[in-house]
Amino acid sequence: MIAFDLQCKNGHTFEGWFEDAAAYDDQKARGFISCPVCDDTEVVKIPSKFAIKGPSQMPMSVKPDADMEIIGRQIAEYVERNFDNVGSDFAEEALKIHYGVSEQRNIRGVSTKQEEETLKQEGIQFFKLPVPAAPDTDTDN
Ligand SMILES: [Zn+2]
Repeated sequence: MIAFDLQCKNGHTFEGWFEDAAAYDDQKARGFISCPVCDDTEVVKIPSKFAIKGPSQMPMSVKPDADMEIIGRQIAEYVERNFDNVGSDFAEEALKIHYGVSEQRNIRGVSTKQEEETLKQEGIQFFKLPVPAAPDTDTDN
């Protein structure tokens, strides 16, 4: 079997499967090949995107490595320097800022799942940072 990308005179493209190239010519001559959209039989072969029909290309994999760790650490450091640490009062403080009770500023802290739900319901934007392991942490044991 051979597959051709075909196009009718109205510009619809579709795929046709044939025994071989000669079968395509034969069926086309008889008007057996018609566009599935408009039934037009004046179809032409268009260059295939792929010469060989086979397994699709391997998906690209991404493996977190040292670079990702560095990026994560840099983000964490930036947040530490530029965000006011409110600790476990994060959700409460975020709400206060949202309603103008507290001054507008960047804050960081910790929150419970329930508090996060409340913030989401209030339409308050926040993001969670994965805290990278300290570089000197002993990972043994
Ligand atoms: Zn068509």
